[in-house]
Amino acid sequence: MRFYIETYGCQMNEYDSQLAEYELLRSGHEKCISPEEADLVIFNTCTVRKSAEDRVYGQLGHMKRYKKKRTIMVGVIGCMAQKSGQKLIDDVPHVDFVLGTDHLNDITRVVRFLQEHPGEKIVLTDQDDAFLETEELPRKEAGLSEFISIMRGCNNFCTYCIVPYVRGRERSRDPKRIIEEIMRLVAGGTREITLLGQNVNSYQWGKTDFLKLIRMVHDIKGLDRIRFTTSHPKDMSPEILQTLMAMSKVCNHYHLPLQSGSDTILKAMNRKYTEAHYRSLVETIRQADPLASITTDIIVGFSGETDADYKKTKEMMQFAQYDSAFIFKYNPRPGTRGWEIADDVPVPKKQQRLEELNAVVKETSDKRNALLLGEKVEILVDGRGRSSDIQQKGRTGSNKVVVFDSEEDLYGRLITVTITDAVGWTLFGKMASI
Ligand code: SF4
Repeated sequence: MRFYIETYGCQMNEYDSQLAEYELLRSGHEKCISPEEADLVIFNTCTVRKSAEDRVYGQLGHMKRYKKKRTIMVGVIGCMAQKSGQKLIDDVPHVDFVLGTDHLNDITRVVRFLQEHPGEKIVLTDQDDAFLETEELPRKEAGLSEFISIMRGCNNFCTYCIVPYVRGRERSRDPKRIIEEIMRLVAGGTREITLLGQNVNSYQWGKTDFLKLIRMVHDIKGLDRIRFTTSHPKDMSPEILQTLMAMSKVCNHYHLPLQSGSDTILKAMNRKYTEAHYRSLVETIRQADPLASITTDIIVGFSGETDADYKKTKEMMQFAQYDSAFIFKYNPRPGTRGWEIADDVPVPKKQQRLEELNAVVKETSDKRNALLLGEKVEILVDGRGRSSDIQQKGRTGSNKVVVFDSEEDLYGRLITVTITDAVGWTLFGKMASI
């Protein structure tokens, strides 16, 4: 069959779509680039925000029209599939299968069964730990930069978040398998890896915790860069940060989701850290490496957020001087504890706070980029620029894109550039050395 996968949500979903894609390719199915050409259309869904769910329901509605014209199979996988299960088929009867987050490797078996039994429906949403042990991406070739899943699930139950209910409790992968997977990738040409998990700091396999795992990865010869996402501030400490910052391969980009700068709201969100603790993390990074980047996620208008609470978030943003931030208006999700609590901040107020904080982050981000002017930074060259034949681009350890000119194709090389200009999110550089 010709298949098309549409992905919503986070990097974990992107990773899962790749898993589903490789499973299907391995079984002889063929990838295509639009639903119009496909015999099998799969939606890998997110349920963290209502808008993402609404978009999927909208797309599923279009599928009914497609199905009237020709025979296609429609599947829903990922978090929304896990949360809604059979209800998805009850709501949208032209959906053929629903696979929860632990059933991606069942996809070819399910597709084959439905080819042989047209009209049947399949829903698989139970938790299956065996999936974790088989989830290595059977990549055809190693990319320059690759994601490696190290754990799944989350035990934190933040008041607003659906993830622990749809992705289940924390389960870590065997470090031996993680290291073997990375070594294979490095042998194939990978220079940079990102360790991926809902809360990587909670990684634990026997006596191997996150720091021990990072040290093992750091020892892999031929690997140049290590990134990780996502960290939980409650599990980060100045000491852990100092240890990470002392490791030469660990990139100087720290994504620390703040969510709110008010202790009252952090408590209501069940985040289990304080504004003072968060501030100590920012201080540690800024003192040790002024050019490191710090990015964050923020929710405005959480239940009970007063003007004073909001002001504290704004103050923290000004203190942290974020390089970038994802800022969202609070929207309670069914199935979370937040759903039971009054959503009492009026929408116009949420909107006003969102716009103000977006302006703050634009200002701090411009300032952070301006700090790099004249600095020599190392970048990993990962592709071509758009403006001319000789323009190339790469990424700093702090995760900023730098474009520069070179006649020689430097793809895959670590080079040093001097930053000459900053326009919006893009930096411009001049080659200093290879
Ligand atoms: S740490 Fe909180 S926000 Fe992050 S996935 Fe877990 S419950 Fe959700």
